[in-house]
Amino acid sequence: MLLGAIADDMTGATDLASTLVREGMRTVQVIGPGAGPLPEADAVVVALKSRTAPVAQAVAESLAALERLLAHGARQILFKICSTFDSTPEGNIGPVADALLARLGAGLAPVCPAFPANGRTVYQGYLFVGSALLNESGMENHPLTPMRDAHLPRLLGAQTTGSVGLVPFPTVEGGPRAIRAALEELRAAGRRYAVVDALTDAHLRALGEAAADAALLVGGSGIALGLPENFRRAGLLPPRRDAAALPPAAGHAAVLAGSCSRATLGQIAHARTAMPCLELDPLATPDAAALAAEALAWAGPRLGPTPVLIAASAPPDRVAALQQRLGREAAGTLLEQALAMIAEGLIARGVRRLVVAGGETSGAVLQRLGIRSLRIGAEIDPGVPWTFAEEAEPPLHLALKSGNFGAPDFFVRAFRHV
Ligand code: ADP
Repeated sequence: MLLGAIADDMTGATDLASTLVREGMRTVQVIGPGAGPLPEADAVVVALKSRTAPVAQAVAESLAALERLLAHGARQILFKICSTFDSTPEGNIGPVADALLARLGAGLAPVCPAFPANGRTVYQGYLFVGSALLNESGMENHPLTPMRDAHLPRLLGAQTTGSVGLVPFPTVEGGPRAIRAALEELRAAGRRYAVVDALTDAHLRALGEAAADAALLVGGSGIALGLPENFRRAGLLPPRRDAAALPPAAGHAAVLAGSCSRATLGQIAHARTAMPCLELDPLATPDAAALAAEALAWAGPRLGPTPVLIAASAPPDRVAALQQRLGREAAGTLLEQALAMIAEGLIARGVRRLVVAGGETSGAVLQRLGIRSLRIGAEIDPGVPWTFAEEAEPPLHLALKSGNFGAPDFFVRAFRHV
């Protein structure tokens, strides 16, 4: 393993893993801090759920992930955070980064959440979302991590016991050598972090090159853009290769939808014209096992190379009706459990290519199937790659889609890629 990454949430981990694959590193995403041997890969991304966890828990899980990555030979560590720097004055970015730096015995870590392709840029230390400052972007109203300041050195400064410097735009424009000199200067001045401006992918690649020797980097997936090239330059990674190659897929195909987002509802409407679809009726059958049994009886004779779609997803009025009857959490859990049982039943019936829509729903399916790691393949749409659960029994291809991701024909198009 060359690069080890610790991501503070699951979809952020997938985003980073996809970036690394695109840049030529074979990448595996591991779910949870876990223990024991890691799969063979150029990069391993450990996906935690630590963004809004209590500080002590976030630190402990991140350190556990770090030990596991170091034990497997990681030469450089990337702490993957959200490109909108989601955090509070208590953390968790500062405390986790402090703990990782201390364990690595590293002097200074570059910090850059920029993700220009999605409009996240950093100028003079201020984080922009599109043309708005972070604190005027809507993020100031986030329910868990309201971002009421856009100045990254100040935001991070409030969360760390160390001090934070800035590598400003004119220096970044000067290229890798200028950035490296600035980082060195800040380190010599006793800074623990250097927020680095970046307006373009070229800036991020220059930062990556300048940070070839950094033990720890902190940033969004953009900060990883330039890292694979460092390993190639050092002769540790073969020149351009297809890092997205997964074993060939065989077996039946299916889609499970648990997201009620507008994008997913549109994708289901589109899929109705192309594949057999079943909508679960949790109001009539408010029981996970019974819903699963009904769905599997429906799916059984329809399984084959053309996917079937089974959806819990419903428009807002039906979601509200179920929530009123069962309570919000119980309604969510009921359908997550039903879909997880259906996933298990479909696999028992020969499904080996499975798309799951919904973040929490995907988590429930992975947990039910006991899947701890995913090898990352080619993207279907931005941020949603096919993956291969090679350690599962039987191994299978999975695409886990966060609710709002993907074009309207996602469910149809997904199976053209595998
Ligand atoms: P997203 O990625 O869009 O946020 P999630 O899977 O994370 O999707 O969350 C969707 C939640 O809605 C899940 O807990 C799921 O079980 C729940 N859910 C799905 N269908 C319904 C429904 N018809 N009524 C109520 N809740 C539902």
